[in-house]
Amino acid sequence: MKKVAIVFVLAVFVPSLVLAWLSVRSLRDQQFVLERQRSLLYQSVADALAKNVEDFLADQQQKFRAQVDALLADADPRAMARVFDERLRQRWPLAQVGFAVTLEGQILSPSPTSSPEARMFCADNGRFLGNREQAEVYWNPKLAGLNYNNTVNLTDNSQQPLPAQRAKQERNVMPQQQALNFANKGQSVEPQQASKLATSEAEFRQLIGDSNDGALARFLDDKLNVLLWYRSPRDPALVFGAKLGIAKLVEELKNTFTSFEPAYRDGICVAVLDDKARPVVISHTNFTANWKHPFVATEIGEALPHWEAAVYPLDPNELARSAQSVRLTISLLVVVLIIAIGVGGWLLVQDLNRQLTLARQKTDFVSNVSHELKTPLTSIRMFSELLAEGRVSDPQKQRSYLHIITAETARLTRLINNVLDFARLDRSEKKYNFAECDLVALTRDTTETYRPHLENNQFQFTCLLLAAPLPVRADADAVAQVIVNLLSNAEKYSNGQKQITLEMLRREGALPCAEVRVLDCGSGVPLGCEEKIFEKFYRAHDSLSSGIQGSGLGLTLARQIARAHGGDVVYEPREGGGSCFCLRLPLIQSAT
Ligand code: ADP
Repeated sequence: MKKVAIVFVLAVFVPSLVLAWLSVRSLRDQQFVLERQRSLLYQSVADALAKNVEDFLADQQQKFRAQVDALLADADPRAMARVFDERLRQRWPLAQVGFAVTLEGQILSPSPTSSPEARMFCADNGRFLGNREQAEVYWNPKLAGLNYNNTVNLTDNSQQPLPAQRAKQERNVMPQQQALNFANKGQSVEPQQASKLATSEAEFRQLIGDSNDGALARFLDDKLNVLLWYRSPRDPALVFGAKLGIAKLVEELKNTFTSFEPAYRDGICVAVLDDKARPVVISHTNFTANWKHPFVATEIGEALPHWEAAVYPLDPNELARSAQSVRLTISLLVVVLIIAIGVGGWLLVQDLNRQLTLARQKTDFVSNVSHELKTPLTSIRMFSELLAEGRVSDPQKQRSYLHIITAETARLTRLINNVLDFARLDRSEKKYNFAECDLVALTRDTTETYRPHLENNQFQFTCLLLAAPLPVRADADAVAQVIVNLLSNAEKYSNGQKQITLEMLRREGALPCAEVRVLDCGSGVPLGCEEKIFEKFYRAHDSLSSGIQGSGLGLTLARQIARAHGGDVVYEPREGGGSCFCLRLPLIQSAT
């Protein structure tokens, strides 16, 4: 048993646990991969949106160049420069202020007296544009000159290298995915994440360098100023520029938003956030969220510093729900697996126990049968030798020896019949010759054949048969075998109480049946073995300790035969000790 337990643990339990662990892990990995895929998908949506806003700005840059080129088409650049602010605003509503400045830093337009915006513009940017002051600007050399290859060579010696870029800045938003990554890597979650943007401190002339056009942004009084500039090939010494109206820019962005809105929008809201993390353009107008904590976000870039393209799940609990359902699935899987292992193990042990018992019973059966064969054979041989050698002259003794030989032969025949029948029944090869017969007559014949044997052994055998016939459909030989088996058991397990009674009953009811009851005054069947005695090879009285010979097949056969007839053999304890074995057979209905 111990060995079996070890084999079970090694062959079933451990591999099952390993399998369970592997499946749990793969499920978790799967969930992680799915989440990663989703966050990558959403990240690509945010990146695409940021790219679209960048392209939109590059478009505005191009439009601005076209406006300047158109204004200069048939005008003297210097003369146009003096009225540039006014003309540009008339033609291009996106421009809040237009400016023209020479490379030396002389501001030709706007005139501070022309409008309040112009006055404020000159106060804010005059010194910076005139190269008299350095300013902290967001400057994107990539965006500068985008889509424009008409490079103008400058020989101006005022061009100086840009000062080194400053330390990185912080972002306004904290995307949940990045926060999660921080947490997963065991780092303390940073309150803000570093921005990709960097500012440069430079004069306007330094920023221009020898580029033809560009964009720069700066914060003045915490307000964003976006400046576009352009040098026309007609007079490269002049720089024309425009300060964009942010409100107008946003309006324009809103109008074009639908055209570049990402196709994949199921379950998400996409938004463009300004530098204060307020949504300025949004795909779902009624949607609200903690704008500072999008699912994923991408910075738009230096042209609109600290503006972000952000993605929010429409149902933020969906992720938690799906994680919970995965956890539930995993737990269920583990529980089911453990139960399956437990039940499987229990069944295995049960089966093993059954097999062990059966194996032991088979061994007992072989030794019992050999013994049962040997005992009658010995007496047959001994008595037949005595008679053959003529050593017994007394005729009474001779008769008695012949009786013994006959009885022992009958016993042998019974045993061999039982074993053969059992083998046939076990292989389902047993054939019955069913025929209508009278159970009373059949029982009478059988008992009368067996009576001499019992009486020879000093048994008092009482047979209480019914007067009226009991018609049954039966194989007469098989039923006789059942009765003989029951009588033989009553004899074997009589425990010295040599009284056997056979009685017959007729039971009425929905299914009328006939009963043959064999009663003895012996030891009775031990408690708890009442059903087991009908199992093959099972012996309640161990032959070795009780000295009673048997194969453990008599009752098994009796019950199988009775059941094949639609009846049964059952055991009932007898009041006052002893057993009562009852053979029930259904009566033929029409005859009742
Ligand atoms: P066996 O060859 O051992 O008699 P059976 O199948 O006929 O095999 O009986 C099975 C067991 O049932 C017996 O070993 C015995 O323990 C018990 N048994 C059968 N008949 C009786 C009886 N009349 N009284 C007590 N025990 C009985």
